[in-house]
Formats: sequence, structure tokens, C-alpha cells
Amino acid sequence: MSHSAKLHPQKARQFAKHVILRLRKAGYLAYWAGGCVRDQLLGREPKDYDVATDAQPDQIRTLFGRRRTLALGASFGVITLIGPPGAGQIEIATFRDDVGYSDGRHPDRVHFSTAEADASRRDFTINGLFFDPIGREVIDYVGGREDIQRRRIRAIGDPVKRFTEDKLRMLRAVRFSAGFDFQLDPETREAVCRMADQITVVSWERIAAEIRQILTAARRAAGVRLLVDTGLGAAILPELFADERRGAAAGDFEAMLEVLVRLDSPEFPLSLAVLLSLAATPQTARAIGRRWRLANHEINRAAWLLEHRRSLDGADRRRWSSVQPVLVAKAAPDLLKWMQAQREAEGADDADVRWCRDQLSRDRAEIDPAPLLTGDDLIGHGVPKGPIFREILQGVREAQLDGEVHSRREALAMVDRLIARPR
Ligand code: ATP
Ligand code: MG
Repeated sequence: MSHSAKLHPQKARQFAKHVILRLRKAGYLAYWAGGCVRDQLLGREPKDYDVATDAQPDQIRTLFGRRRTLALGASFGVITLIGPPGAGQIEIATFRDDVGYSDGRHPDRVHFSTAEADASRRDFTINGLFFDPIGREVIDYVGGREDIQRRRIRAIGDPVKRFTEDKLRMLRAVRFSAGFDFQLDPETREAVCRMADQITVVSWERIAAEIRQILTAARRAAGVRLLVDTGLGAAILPELFADERRGAAAGDFEAMLEVLVRLDSPEFPLSLAVLLSLAATPQTARAIGRRWRLANHEINRAAWLLEHRRSLDGADRRRWSSVQPVLVAKAAPDLLKWMQAQREAEGADDADVRWCRDQLSRDRAEIDPAPLLTGDDLIGHGVPKGPIFREILQGVREAQLDGEVHSRREALAMVDRLIARPR
């Protein structure tokens, strides 16, 4: 995963090539490995470059200098090399095979090994490729090139064994399949379906990180469908997909996917809210968010969206004061994205959504003017603290927004009328 915000693909690529040259000149074997090779063969810009080599961690550090390297992953044989500005960083990993996996997620030990063994310990054939950027040659020990051509996700070796070692791979299979529009190879798919309920041995943080990627990808609807079809959905979100409910809500499920797929570059909380709208109340959404260890601001956003999903419906035909508090909320643009997708999915008129967008494009001071009165003003005016205090304040605010009072003087006159009114 990359840390630098501003990555220049050309610089990253140049640097990744330079690293191979340096290792090669020092007498080591070195290749680009994994995701970057796959992405390149798919015609996609690699997110980052990983290097695999027969140099050992201390040899790598000696070659590139201690100051430019981080040894955080040294126990797994991984050294992080910091590139020049814009080039990002590169993980240089010593060829290894992984041993153990008694916890269903992490290898107990690693053992430095050959390039071929290193390819075989990787998860899917499309992720098991090496590339020599000097000779421009793909090195394929696992049949990954053919699977890229045939557009399929296939576990390296016996899928049941590979998912038993590391259950997270099941979610990765779904993410890659949906993300690239690749089919799951039948045996691999069968193994995911058979073992799906074991996904919960993986930490919720890691599960949520995969779900985040699935839900924010362009092909998120296909991803969610595959999650549900394989049974991973039921294991991760029993609130929504426990068996009995799924049959009953099949129509709702399809309708939700139609909305999900139409969201305009959604951030995670928005996609999540749309998914959870299938069954979850804002409270359930909060419980799910906590279980997945999401950040509070993301939990709050998803819950707010669920709570307000209908709050702007027909906004163009309603009193401004009933619309304005929702429309000026921070998450309103997300809510509008949701409404827009919903209107498109239903072929419904989106006049209210367009009207809301117009309002939001006006000056902030116009749509959200400073209140004419504050709590202090009410106290100064002799209004007793109590339950009516808030109501009065809100009543004045609504009257201000609806253009019924225009000044502090008029607002205070309104307060007088309100307190004087007999009960
Ligand atoms: P992305 O584009 O999402 O980064 P990636 O394939 O680069 O995809 P990473 O998680 O960055 O995925 O991992 C880099 C490589 O390490 C993978 O291509 C794969 O070869 C290997 N790998 C990653 N996670 C696993 C795993 N859980 N089991 C086996 N091999 C893995
Ligand atoms: Mg990667």
C-alpha cells in the first residue's frame, strides 16, 4: 500500500526499473512481482511496484543504504525502499515460502527460497507472475498469463488448502473477480462457497478493508452479488443476508444493486449505507460499523445517511425550513448522490435532486444565514430555561428561513408572541 499522496506513475516506474538494475548489477536475481505485473498485463497503471529477489534483507539494506530503507517487515523478508519524490516506495521481498498458518491468516515462519517457490506461495495465478523490466520478459511458474487471457481467478494449487491457510484470500478472490470482471474458476469458487462461514476468523479490520475496496470499486454491484452468492455475505453481514431473510428480500436485493451500481464515485460510507438500507436501521448500521472497527466519522456518516435517506424527497415542493437543516449538513452531497442513483434506477423524476443541487451551489451565507437569535439572546430577553426554550429558538429559526421574520427586532417580537400565548 502506498503512503505518498502524489505519485507520478512514470517516476514510480522508472524507480522500480532502477531498483531491478541495481540488484542485478550486484549479482542478484530480481523481478517485479505480483499485482504490478498483473496490472501491466491488464493494461492498467500499477498502483505500486513490488520487487522479489534472492538478495536477503541485510544484503538489500547494505546495497541501498540504511537511510533509504525501512526494515518493518524484515521478519517476513520485506524491506521497504523509499524512492525519490513522486516515485513512492517499493517493497523488496526476498523469495520465500511461507510455513505454518496455524491461525488461518498468518504464516508461522517464512523460509527464504527460490523464485518458483515464491510464486507458488502467492494467492492467485494472476498474482503469481514475475516480470523482468530489463529484458521485458514475463516469468510465469503458475499459469497466470493464461488465466489473465481467459479472465479467471484461480487459486495457485489446491484452493481448499490455500483458503485453509489464509481465509482472507476468499475475500480477495471476490474483490479481484468483481474488480477485473473475471470469473472465479469453478474449483476456486466451490472452495469459497464451502468455506465461506470461516471468513470470520480473520480480523474485522481486514475484512472491512476488503469490503471497503469492493464497495468503492466501479463494479461494486457485481462484488456484492458475488459476496452473497458465495455465502461470504451471510457470514459477514448476517443482519442482511442470513438465509431466511435473503429469499424474502430477493426483489429488494436486486433493487438495491441497481442503486449501488449507479452511485457517482461513492466514498465507502455512502456505498455502505446503500447496502445496509436493505435491512438495517441506523442503530444496526452503527453496530455493524463498530464490529468492523470503522472510524467513528464513517459510522456516523453511514448512520446519518440511513436516517435521512427520505429527508430530501420532494424538497422542491416543501417549506424551505423543513429542507434546509438536512441540505446544509456535511453529508448532504452524499445523500444527493444516493437520491440521484435511486431516481435513475427507478426511472423517476429527479427534479427534487436537481433543485437541491441548485440550492447547494448558492452562497453559503444565503442558504445558511447566521441565526437572528441565539440562546443568549433568549436568556437576555427573560425567557425561562426549560423545555420551551429550544422550541422557541427553533420556531424563530424556521420563521427566519421561511422569510417570516427578517430582523432581530422582528424575531424578539415573535418570541414575545410565543411566550404570551396561553397554553
Ligand atoms: P492490489 O492492486 O489490490 O494492491 P495486489 O495483488 O498488489 O493487489 P497486495 O495485497 O498489494 O495485492 O499484495 C501483493 C502481492 O502479494 C499479491 O499480488 C500476491 O502475489 C501476494 N499476496 C498478497 N496477499 C496475499 C495473501 N493473502 N496470500 C498470498 N499471497 C498474497
Ligand atoms: Mg499491491
